[in-house]
Amino acid sequence: MKFYSTRNKEEFVTFKEAIFRGLAPDGGLYMPEIMPDMKSLIDLFTPETTFNEIAASITEQLLSEELDSAACKRICDRAFTFTPELTDLKNGISILELYHGPSCAFKDFGASFLASCMEEFLSNESREATILTATSGDTGSAVARAFYGKKNINVVILYPSGRVSPLQEKQLTTLGGNIRALEVKGAFDDCQRMVKEAFLDKEMSEKLKLTSANSISLGRLIPQSFYYIWAWAQMKGNRENLTFCVPSGNFGNLTAGIMANQWGMGNTSFIAATNINDVVPEYIKSGTFNPRASKLTLSNAMDVGNPSNFERMLDIFNDSHDKMSELLKEEVVTDSETKKTIKKLLDEKDYEADPHTAVGYLAAERRLKDTNGPIVSLSTAHPGKFTEVYEEATGKKPALPEQLKAVLNLEKKSTIVGNTLDDMKAVLL
Ligand SMILES: *Cc1c(COP(=O)(O)O)cnc(C)c1O
Repeated sequence: MKFYSTRNKEEFVTFKEAIFRGLAPDGGLYMPEIMPDMKSLIDLFTPETTFNEIAASITEQLLSEELDSAACKRICDRAFTFTPELTDLKNGISILELYHGPSCAFKDFGASFLASCMEEFLSNESREATILTATSGDTGSAVARAFYGKKNINVVILYPSGRVSPLQEKQLTTLGGNIRALEVKGAFDDCQRMVKEAFLDKEMSEKLKLTSANSISLGRLIPQSFYYIWAWAQMKGNRENLTFCVPSGNFGNLTAGIMANQWGMGNTSFIAATNINDVVPEYIKSGTFNPRASKLTLSNAMDVGNPSNFERMLDIFNDSHDKMSELLKEEVVTDSETKKTIKKLLDEKDYEADPHTAVGYLAAERRLKDTNGPIVSLSTAHPGKFTEVYEEATGKKPALPEQLKAVLNLEKKSTIVGNTLDDMKAVLL
């Protein structure tokens, strides 16, 4: 298996090259050269097959030219010390909980797998690398946790001082070890600009061997397909016309589901659920793609006005709007509907949902009548990460997961830096 950029299908790179580059040099996103048919393998999985077994065998199918069977198993066992969970709400909808990892959000699956793959490749070559990343809060903690303690890898995280929540700041700054947090006197945009400039700066990029772990990395996309296949196996006996409902922002999560579908995950279809940042739902309905500035909502990890993975979606469907809209339905959920849904889930189902999960659930409920089968709705974050919204919606506090409780008592360790490349250089070189 080789990989091409969505902007140039003539040149191919290995998986290793793709993950250390992150973005392709032409600005495109990496894609597998073919969608291999794994139907016979996927059909063998049962509700007893563990998540790690599924992850390792799919990894091997995709990457056997670069990683042998033992390496695939090692990578997955190191990455996935947590699993998804499926909760049946007994009304035709099940919730696929993806928040049991170290940072309590679904991005843990992608970040952990990427970190584990990089560790594998680097230790084979006794080479070092530095992950440089900017965060407005959420992604940074998944990356920090995933790379913590990994051999031959250092991580530098830039975050805007005073502009992330206290809990997020603790998640970013308390690990220590190979994770270094730079508290930038500026906004998130400054952090992002500094990262971009650092990659273009020869001295920095060579001395530190900079590499990226951002959300468009192929190494974060591929592992997100594993939990769809795991859920498909869990639903054996009750998966006629199964629909996955995916609360979406940059659409990496949904793209991974579509890939699993193309690899032979039976007769499945999808609902693209968004908040009012509805560029993709609009495209599905009208065929017109009109990216625009994002608007702030309560489900803020999905406040995206120009979803980066749309390019991958177009690639999979050969730019055919008809093909895409055949497989994907769409739903848009407002903030007030999100809050009502959080309350309703608690009152009627005794289920604690975060705002992103609530967007997905309401979308699933609206589509349930015309799907003609069960719906698995993805839960992307633990409600304890969004206590303020949850309290506003229900008047109650959500349970805090152990992972989050643990960081609250740790000591913050960060280095304050100005908002220019030179400020950052002075600290890092
Ligand atoms: C990142 C994120 C999303 C959106 O996922 P995409 O892959 O960007 O569509 C949804 N919910 C939460 C909690 C997230 O952190």
